[in-house]
Amino acid sequence: MGRYQERKIRKMGMNPDQIATAKAALFLVLRKSLADAGLTTVADDVLICPLCWKEKRLDELSLEHCIPGSVSGETFALTCTPCNNTHGSKLDSHLKGYQALTDALKGKGAVRVRMNDAGRRAAANMEFEPDKGIHFKIVGKATREDAWKSIKKSREAGDTSPFKVTMQLGHTIVGLKVGLLRAGYLLMFRRFGYWFASTPAAAQIRDRIMNPSAIVPDVMSLTGEFRDFPVSLDTDHVLIQADINGVRFIFVVIRLKRETESIHFAMMPLPHERQNEFFALAEQHAKHNPVMTFENIPPSAIIL
Ligand SMILES: [Zn+2]
Repeated sequence: MGRYQERKIRKMGMNPDQIATAKAALFLVLRKSLADAGLTTVADDVLICPLCWKEKRLDELSLEHCIPGSVSGETFALTCTPCNNTHGSKLDSHLKGYQALTDALKGKGAVRVRMNDAGRRAAANMEFEPDKGIHFKIVGKATREDAWKSIKKSREAGDTSPFKVTMQLGHTIVGLKVGLLRAGYLLMFRRFGYWFASTPAAAQIRDRIMNPSAIVPDVMSLTGEFRDFPVSLDTDHVLIQADINGVRFIFVVIRLKRETESIHFAMMPLPHERQNEFFALAEQHAKHNPVMTFENIPPSAIIL
């Protein structure tokens, strides 16, 4: 077990026995789901990893947060350990970076920046305060002493000339969106098992998650952020049934939470005869509806 894995398990708040029990219970549920979906495996007593689609024994699988624990995810799926450790940790960092920035913009926490004040370089924390605006605090231990002393001296003497700042974001837009797609896919797998994961459209989503340089399906149209989600969420996700032109799909509503929270979505295909139209319709829909709004959601549409 790698260090990353150990750190994640500590955050789950479970002891090793509880983790083993939860893992074994989920394994049995998924074995049944595998048979129900009509899938067969070469070896007995294995599952197909929902991400790399390879057969794995119980001891090769681990509990994985569908939404990373670093942004308060609390729902688990089973994936193989390599899938969990490699791209999982990479994509997790984009969701965490996005939420840390959102926190800072709402006045909770700071964003690390590089300052360049007339050639004097310093590391600083940029903080936002709702009433006072932006201010910068130089991080002494990450800055050469002569540089910050010189900056301090000239600023105290009344120097008000502008300076340059470079922000180091903890995420990229594509990284954030692939991370949301992965969370949405794993939440669907957790809820619907192989009935969902064994379909051609789910396979395309899986390939997109596993291959960050792939360009289809279009991750930009399948994921996004809600500005004013009408329902308050006390769980890390909600599934909502919806349709575009009669093609049914699921909105997976994803909550990212650190000091503050943001609500996102990933659109996921459902198995039915018009599934092959789903990606093109989602793309068309995103072009004409840059802002996603929901009004009067009937309670019957929400699957908890
Ligand atoms: Zn795997």
